[in-house]
Amino acid sequence: MSKSLDTIFNFTDTSDACIKCGKCIPVCTIHQINPDETTSPRGFIDLLGAYKQGNLTLDKNAKDIFESCFLCTNCVDVCPNSLATDMIIEEVRADIADKYGIAWFKRGFFFLLRNRWVMDIVMKFGYMFKTCALSEEKEKGGLRARFSLPMVKKGRLLPSLAKRSFLNSYPENTPAPIQKKQTQRVAIFIGCLANYNYTNIGDSLMEILSILNIEVFIPKKQLCCGAPAYFTGDMKSVEYLIKKNIEYFESFVEEYDAILIPEATCSAMITHDWEIFFANHTMPEWKERAIKVSQKVYMATAWLYDNTDLANILESRGKKMDAVVTYHDPCHARKVQGIWKEPRTLLAKNYPMVEMSDPNRCCGFGGVTMQTEKFYFAEAAGKPKAAMIKETQAKYVSAECSACRVQLSEAMNSAKVETVFKNPLELIAQALREGEE
Ligand code: SF4
Ligand code: SF4
Repeated sequence: MSKSLDTIFNFTDTSDACIKCGKCIPVCTIHQINPDETTSPRGFIDLLGAYKQGNLTLDKNAKDIFESCFLCTNCVDVCPNSLATDMIIEEVRADIADKYGIAWFKRGFFFLLRNRWVMDIVMKFGYMFKTCALSEEKEKGGLRARFSLPMVKKGRLLPSLAKRSFLNSYPENTPAPIQKKQTQRVAIFIGCLANYNYTNIGDSLMEILSILNIEVFIPKKQLCCGAPAYFTGDMKSVEYLIKKNIEYFESFVEEYDAILIPEATCSAMITHDWEIFFANHTMPEWKERAIKVSQKVYMATAWLYDNTDLANILESRGKKMDAVVTYHDPCHARKVQGIWKEPRTLLAKNYPMVEMSDPNRCCGFGGVTMQTEKFYFAEAAGKPKAAMIKETQAKYVSAECSACRVQLSEAMNSAKVETVFKNPLELIAQALREGEE
């Protein structure tokens, strides 16, 4: 079930609407690893209601509690009143950021996200000097910390760095291989992790679009969708990034059938949270503009499944692979956008599929704070998921989300699970490529 915008959320209304049934508690990611009423959806709602009525001070303890939510939306999914606990937590994090400021390293990271040309330079330097502190794990597509770094313990698997970003690897316009009257035309919004770290995702999408004879536009001035800053409460960065992207998207969106995103978090942010952000911050004109551009935005596998002949092409031309695949449902795909069938159906054309015991369980990525200051929570949430993947004995675990990839790759690394993470587009392109050989 996707989140309904009718459920909006102010702290007091949400608190009043909570009937205390407790259905949300067993599915809550933080409660599963820290079983305490205060770190449960019902507890968060109670505390937020008290905060808005002036009965709770936003002290360090409250800050700590509100920063422990994974924003996984499991609670929204099961709540009889669809109460959007995650959204009110996103909003209270802005108050926390106002009161306590944002840690220097997060401010630095959000500065880079706002200024792509600086990020490009930093990533280039990172690529050149990565082996000073990190060793390459080619098979796992990651970098292992050689020694303990600030907030990164020795042995942790981090995302690899590409020599050249996806956006700098292709021309702005790639015509369809065969010119026809009815040629489909798409733009690609790549997402920061697929741009700098997991560039094979974009390469694979380009390969698939070429086989489908689709014209591609790569908008070079795209910026981060704003998700990392939104989940951290840096609303100034969010506003800047969203407005810049909307103005830019408006300049080309009418000319294309779709804007494809091979990433669940970015597409959920654009199709769902942009509108909510402007609604919450009373910017109705921008809200309408966000709705308009986001109508053309799709998660890549969902659009390819619904609008192209890819499933038939995979059936007729793709190689039947031996490697077993298990599919993990990113929270931002299944719960927020209702997408779960499309990537599975496409993958199943060429790969034997096996379901893990709970594919819908959150991987435990949780955002920038969870991956740094509160990494012990991410680690604990990742363990059961790594065990589930191991049980399937699959060669690949797949999900259309690079945040899940960061988290699950490390969870499997830490639990010594041999399964390798791939985006479904990488596996689909591989089956097509090997089918041609
Ligand atoms: S969003 Fe996830 S972690 Fe946060 S309260 Fe809801 S279920 Fe728990
Ligand atoms: S499921 Fe909804 S109504 Fe029930 S306790 Fe949780 S938040 Fe409240």
